[in-house]
Amino acid sequence: MIVMKFGGTSVADAACMREVAALVAEALPQGPLVVLSATARTTDALFEAARKAEEGDLGGAMDLQRTLMLRHRGLAGDLFPDGIPEGLDNALVELGGEMDLLLRGVALLRELSPRSMDAIASIGERLSTRIFAAHIGAPWVDARTVMRTDDRFGAAQPQGPELEALAGRILAPLLGPGRAAVTQGYIGATARGLTTTLGRGGSDFSAALLGAALGAQDIQIWTDVEGVLTCDPRVVPEAQPIAELSFAEAAELAAFGAKVLHPATIQPAVEAGIPVTVRHTRRPHGRFTTITAEVRTGRPITALASRGPVTVLTVASAKMLNQSGFLASLFQVFSRRRISVDLIATAEVSVSLTVDADAPLDALLEDLGEFATVGVARGRTIVAIVGEQLKLTPGVTGRCFGALREINVEMISMGANEINLSFVVKEEDAKPALRALHAALIGVGPEPARRSA
Ligand code: ADP
Ligand code: ASP
Ligand code: MG
Repeated sequence: MIVMKFGGTSVADAACMREVAALVAEALPQGPLVVLSATARTTDALFEAARKAEEGDLGGAMDLQRTLMLRHRGLAGDLFPDGIPEGLDNALVELGGEMDLLLRGVALLRELSPRSMDAIASIGERLSTRIFAAHIGAPWVDARTVMRTDDRFGAAQPQGPELEALAGRILAPLLGPGRAAVTQGYIGATARGLTTTLGRGGSDFSAALLGAALGAQDIQIWTDVEGVLTCDPRVVPEAQPIAELSFAEAAELAAFGAKVLHPATIQPAVEAGIPVTVRHTRRPHGRFTTITAEVRTGRPITALASRGPVTVLTVASAKMLNQSGFLASLFQVFSRRRISVDLIATAEVSVSLTVDADAPLDALLEDLGEFATVGVARGRTIVAIVGEQLKLTPGVTGRCFGALREINVEMISMGANEINLSFVVKEEDAKPALRALHAALIGVGPEPARRSA
């Protein structure tokens, strides 16, 4: 079997859903499990409605609820011009009612816990999949019966063995040559049946987890670009599709902000040795990216990505001089305060690290203040250069610095795996940096230009 995951823009309206249906029909001999996101902008609207309810603006929340339900009803009406079938109609009424109740509950308490947020967010994927499953006449599976997670609401962690057993029991019997089934990305449930989500953009992760659990031949991520490109096309319009990426490259790119893949997507595929392909729903026979363990193309640099805003902390202490154990005590503080660190650069008496812009720093800074002085620089962006051949290609760093000569680089870090070279710049310098690096290191052409250094 294969997994076909379609993102929000791929199922935005009836025309899109018909195109997706045609792709699923074409793949039917391979027994596709169809994993869908909520329709475009729906998850954002659900978050907004929940926040309005929390602020006590029940009227505003209800307006959003009605608009959302009308939009989905309109979509279903377009797909079924002779009338929405009873089963689908009931499902839509039920989901509308559930959303209504949840929003009223939040407004009443003026309290929006991550747990309530997940329950509300789950409506989006449940709506899109109900409509699509009815359209193609395939079984609809509630992902919450399969995607077993822990109870970290908003960023739930999948529970591998349980998930695998449930997928084998519930999904596998529905799939086979000539048979498809439809389920939701992004959402799951705890062992107690509480609804969870895997975090924003998590449908890619769902697809990979389900593909790995079912031993899929291919995990296909269908989206609105021709695969993973050499840079975010919104920043660098001349970015080109990459034919082949290694798992390591894809994981680095996703972790450093290439939104095309959720950062956790690659891990389950790596573990199961299943290739992931990234394809354009509107150009199904166009170019696409294959992500596998081994990359066979010899490019010095594969792609660029950026992530921000981040905050740079510079921790300085004379105690670092010729002392062992300083770094251990430093990282103990981060661990105790549960703040994760991305990039690190060390000097003789100071360490610079980046943390997420919204990481809660007060307690951390207080703890660090006991043995060091800490500088805090907010509003920074990490710009990452990724490529398997980076480590083997002499002169790459020189070319990077050449490209960035007009830009103030505040921190540099070479990933220990040697396929990632990262720079920290001010937020406003990120786009110029990406454009300059792309022009200098990748250039234009059907494949990232090969260069001999
Ligand atoms: P979906 O809704 O299908 O999951 P997303 O919006 O999450 O789609 O991801 C696709 C978007 O990711 C593209 O439209 C593009 O703007 C953005 N993107 C960022 N970096 C890259 C990259 N390196 N390659 C391709 N797309 C990228
Ligand atoms: N619908 C969810 C989101 O918008 C998950 C996804 O699309 O991957 O974040
Ligand atoms: Mg996405």
